[in-house]
Amino acid sequence: MLDYNRFMFTQHKAEHIYIHIPFCIRKCRYCDFHSIPHDCALEERYVRAVLNETALRKNQIGRVTTIFFGGGTPSILAPVLLTEIMHVLKQSCEIDADAEITVEANPATMHAEKSETLKTAGFNRISIGVQSVHARELATLGRMHDWNDVMETCALVRSAGFSNLSLDLMYGLPGQSVESWLHSLEHVIALNPDHISAYELTPERETPLFGQLSSGAVALPSEEAVAEMYTLADELLANNRYEHYEISNYAQPARRCRHNMAYWQRKSYIGLGAAAHSFDGHYRSANTDDIIQYMERIEQGGVPVIETIELTSLQALQETVFLGLRTADGIARSAFEPVIWQEIEKALQDDTLQGLAEITPDRLRLTSRGWLVSNQVIASILSGIEKLPHGR
Ligand code: SF4
Repeated sequence: MLDYNRFMFTQHKAEHIYIHIPFCIRKCRYCDFHSIPHDCALEERYVRAVLNETALRKNQIGRVTTIFFGGGTPSILAPVLLTEIMHVLKQSCEIDADAEITVEANPATMHAEKSETLKTAGFNRISIGVQSVHARELATLGRMHDWNDVMETCALVRSAGFSNLSLDLMYGLPGQSVESWLHSLEHVIALNPDHISAYELTPERETPLFGQLSSGAVALPSEEAVAEMYTLADELLANNRYEHYEISNYAQPARRCRHNMAYWQRKSYIGLGAAAHSFDGHYRSANTDDIIQYMERIEQGGVPVIETIELTSLQALQETVFLGLRTADGIARSAFEPVIWQEIEKALQDDTLQGLAEITPDRLRLTSRGWLVSNQVIASILSGIEKLPHGR
């Protein structure tokens, strides 16, 4: 077993905390996240383990500016347990008065009392998985809620005092048309959320949906239709005052997700819980994704980390490029050695990249059209950089 306390966070402490809650009502058909069906007996034991891990790693946490409870379905936990985690975090860490504290929620798990308890516990941002407004698309995904649940949950959390609300949508779904996507977008915009995430479905192997796609039981929309859906979201959301600030994310003014921005800017963060990852600016580490093993390791006084990687300077540079180019801000010229900046300028002269990336005297960024094919653009930019000599 590795002991991350020996080498991680020795330079600077984490300002961002991620807590993984690996329980869901049942598995959605497209999901390959680390989650298991909710179990009341297990949730209490799991929360004890997370609290113990928090105590064990207290010295790695600095002044906290964001906390994100993700999953899984954090809102499935008993409110008393979510409150307890928040209480322990407040006791053991210094949390900024204006820290962004997010909880992910599934509309099928929310009710009035839970919304109020979460607000009282200190959560100030709630991220709700909507995915679609159409019952048929939700059924294909294996989601448990319908559009009425979403509207009800939004009303509940607003009346509980949540002023920062994010809604997640998905496009490129089996059976989805450009028209049905437009319908989903319009309905979500009408709820006036502060933030909207719009993710393209990526069918992952080992998921039931992948099996259905492979057997031909369901089919994805064409590439052209998916590109049209992306462009439609880009235009419609811009017309409604949402800034497209990251490939899949749109925010009203001053409502970017600060926690996710920290990931894209390679700030250090600590991940607590099974399958959670941590980054201290130099090392990346991962906790075991086996929930039982995670709890056993903590209960036996050990650490749950199963892998720690020290990044080489080339790996750090690759991360800077592919994470930074996900954002509308792009990357500052000062992040690169002059020789690397020259290589980037050279790569961008290629005819195939025209209109996909922009280079100014002090920044590099992708255009909205560039985001649509970001993997190819980033690969072209990196291929020149990777040929240069790099130290460790
Ligand atoms: S609610 Fe989210 S984490 Fe849970 S199974 Fe569905 S997609 Fe996966």
